[in-house]
Amino acid sequence: MTEGNRLPGATHLECTATGEHLESEQLIGLSPAGKPLFARYDLEALRGRFTPQAVAPRRADLWRYEEVLPVRDRACQVALGEGWTPMLDAPRTAARLGVRRLWVKDEGQNPTGSFKARGLGLAVSRALELGAKELALPSAGNAGSAAAAYAAAAGLPVHVVVPSDTPAPILEEIAALGADLQLLDGLITDCGKVVRRGVEENGWFDLSTLKEPYRVEGKKTMGYELFEQLGGRLPDAIVYPTGGGTGLIGMWKAFDEMERLGWIGAERPKMFTVQAQGCAPMVRAWERGDDHADMWENAATYAAGLRVPGAVGDFLILRALRESGGGAVAVADHLMGEWVHKLGADTGVFAAPEGGATVAAVPLLMEKGLISHEDEVVLFNTGSGLKYVGMTPVD
Ligand SMILES: *Cc1c(COP(=O)(O)O)cnc(C)c1O
Repeated sequence: MTEGNRLPGATHLECTATGEHLESEQLIGLSPAGKPLFARYDLEALRGRFTPQAVAPRRADLWRYEEVLPVRDRACQVALGEGWTPMLDAPRTAARLGVRRLWVKDEGQNPTGSFKARGLGLAVSRALELGAKELALPSAGNAGSAAAAYAAAAGLPVHVVVPSDTPAPILEEIAALGADLQLLDGLITDCGKVVRRGVEENGWFDLSTLKEPYRVEGKKTMGYELFEQLGGRLPDAIVYPTGGGTGLIGMWKAFDEMERLGWIGAERPKMFTVQAQGCAPMVRAWERGDDHADMWENAATYAAGLRVPGAVGDFLILRALRESGGGAVAVADHLMGEWVHKLGADTGVFAAPEGGATVAAVPLLMEKGLISHEDEVVLFNTGSGLKYVGMTPVD
């Protein structure tokens, strides 16, 4: 399969809107149509060789899936221990909520304390491999510290632009990791404008979510991990706190790949998006039956990762929810906070508010008949509660 340090990598990139094919071995952002690009692999060739049995004894990080990742040169795999996070059985929370079985996938145990490490680990590795000289990204917080960490490990400079009211521990972390940190009075969308200017004027490479093809490749590994950690199957339902949606879109892509690889059949978990009541563009679009989401005005929530008023991958999120038979709900900030405490007392996991939001969503989804007592559910705690110390719910 592999020769020395060389891996097969992607065969090409594909526009998620038009299906147009593009060369993968170039530094690239969006497709010519202005839409996200997906990396495609020769899954036919991998079938029967890249199997759960082959992967089982490998290293305990996301590079265990290297044949379905885009990095070709192993020397460019920038690794800090990302991925292969614990899948924790949570019987007391399952009993509280009245579902058959419930697990918490604890992404707070990633480097930099959030699952942003998966995406940025891949994006920085690939930018390094393809010769980028200077990186940049707008962030609601956690993507900034993950980018700072991987850029530091890769030896590349990075400019991180974040809202000035980003949680203080995250700001300290970004600065300590050597990034050029710029604060802005505004939201992540305003920070994006500063980055675009730097791209045009100074040739920075933009690592914004889904505006380059590889963060989603890092986050898709959560889909492969679910399967392996549940003993070779998928749950009935996945509840995912959605900002830009990279993880949800990534897992949906992973399930498609896993079917082509022969790991699973046509079965899929129901995918559920959770957002904050103060910033719920995907929930609103879902309820309206739209296939795109309008920008949310005056976004406000203490769950920094959910303070994302508009997402370039909106149509991909909504498509995954629809095709999976899932849905979308919004929860109030104070409920996130309450469930952070209940989950903590039940399990020993100090969750981020985004993780609290997934637990808070379950009773709402059960009321709507979307999750049943018979379901086995995986909740994503996407970050560590330690990164939000000092932040309080906005409602
Ligand atoms: C970024 C972030 C999210 C949202 O993730 P997406 O994949 O962009 O939707 C959720 N929780 C935390 C802690 C985050 O940092």
